[in-house]
Amino acid sequence: MRTILVVEDEPQIAALVRDYLEHAGFAVLLAGDGESGLAAAHAQRPDAVILDLGLPAIDGLDVIRALRRGSPVPIVVLTARGDESDRVAGLELGADDYVVKPFSPKELVARVRAVLRRVEAAARPTDRVVVGDLDVDLGRHRVTAGGRVVTLTPTEFELLATLVREPGRVFTRGQLLDAVHGFSLETYERAIDGHVKNLRRKLEPDPGAPRYIRTVHGVGYALAEPGAAREPGA
Ligand code: CA
Repeated sequence: MRTILVVEDEPQIAALVRDYLEHAGFAVLLAGDGESGLAAAHAQRPDAVILDLGLPAIDGLDVIRALRRGSPVPIVVLTARGDESDRVAGLELGADDYVVKPFSPKELVARVRAVLRRVEAAARPTDRVVVGDLDVDLGRHRVTAGGRVVTLTPTEFELLATLVREPGRVFTRGQLLDAVHGFSLETYERAIDGHVKNLRRKLEPDPGAPRYIRTVHGVGYALAEPGAAREPGA
């Protein structure tokens, strides 16, 4: 049985999340603050962590930093509505996904499952990803969209490769810039928007209504998960 650590200072929310996770077949550990959360993560080695960013004493972002020093455990953060800067900071510090409060417990469980799936998929070497009509052969550097071979610049290819290696994961502009150029400077982050625009023009049947590369408002971009980009009824 997989174990999820829930770090949340509001007891009602923690109990609700625990009930839904247990119903979904997970074992659950609860911690009411960052310090006991870190101690539980260290001692019990959970399979994933759900972390509220608004915690007393140690701030949630500091908890992510501390967790990431010792382990690659998947982290899903809970953030307050409208707090996009916390979402971006959380992802850049190494959180894997976020859910905005108030949230649906069902959606949270689905996100935890998706993160666990991505971790397992990332552990297997992937050299080809197919999403709808998009076929990316990472080993051969070959991309087809709707059966037609698409020519990409090296930067566009690296950007697409980063997105397709972890379908569904939300990347911030800083993370994408770091992936394609090996560094991230805030002033250059908008350059990613230009590359995404070019990729969409080359890959998307309708670049104005993208099916493959999703914009995550205020945060960054994600590749639609396989199956999610299918035509209705297909
Ligand atoms: Ca809180």
